[in-house]
Amino acid sequence: MHQIPDTSVQARFANGFARAIELICPGCNTKAMFEARPWQEHGGQVVATEMSCTRCGRPVLLVQLIDDFNNCKPETLFTYPAPGGRDCMTGVQHLQALSGPLARTYDSAVKLYNHAEWGPTALTVRHLLEGLCARLLPAEKRDLPLPRQLETLPRDIDLTRPLQDISHLMAPDGAFGRQFEDEAAIDKVTAENLLELAEQLIHYLVVLPGELAELKSRIATAPVPLRRGGSVG
Ligand SMILES: [Zn+2]
Repeated sequence: MHQIPDTSVQARFANGFARAIELICPGCNTKAMFEARPWQEHGGQVVATEMSCTRCGRPVLLVQLIDDFNNCKPETLFTYPAPGGRDCMTGVQHLQALSGPLARTYDSAVKLYNHAEWGPTALTVRHLLEGLCARLLPAEKRDLPLPRQLETLPRDIDLTRPLQDISHLMAPDGAFGRQFEDEAAIDKVTAENLLELAEQLIHYLVVLPGELAELKSRIATAPVPLRRGGSVG
């Protein structure tokens, strides 16, 4: 189930339940209006219905939580399957901390994507990558073309920094190391922090390289799109 914002609802039935919703259709991948059938209550806590894309007819299940008075609870409208479109990445607050303008550019790219504006999305992403390189590289390299900037990035940024000091934490006198002396005294917060440390390490060392390799192989095997209006063969 995927939560969709109440602001996506364009029209409601007299009882307040959604009647028309604008979403990126998971079927035809364009921004489309969905029209809901009459809702049915289940167990006094939810109402459900089906709606279909006015462009391609793709049906989508719709579920809404209700309160004791049969009114919609705010921001509890869910669809299955998820609409097309993307949520902002997790950890976007770190991008915001690095640079407010970069975070806004990223936000614009996601919004454009969610409006099915593919060309403007791609241009904004390119602008984002240029801004990111310019922010991270030393001044004398900021005017290089983007491919050169990306090439030089691993040499100019200390990529080992996130991994430094972890050994100290695990050493016998480190913040975590000390705790292992008495396993029974380890509390939830310590277990949580340790698990998060392991997850971040796995993300950096295993997940990131794995996902980039997968992305590169998807790009390599993707069919080349035909140019609009161009001749074929
Ligand atoms: Zn559709």
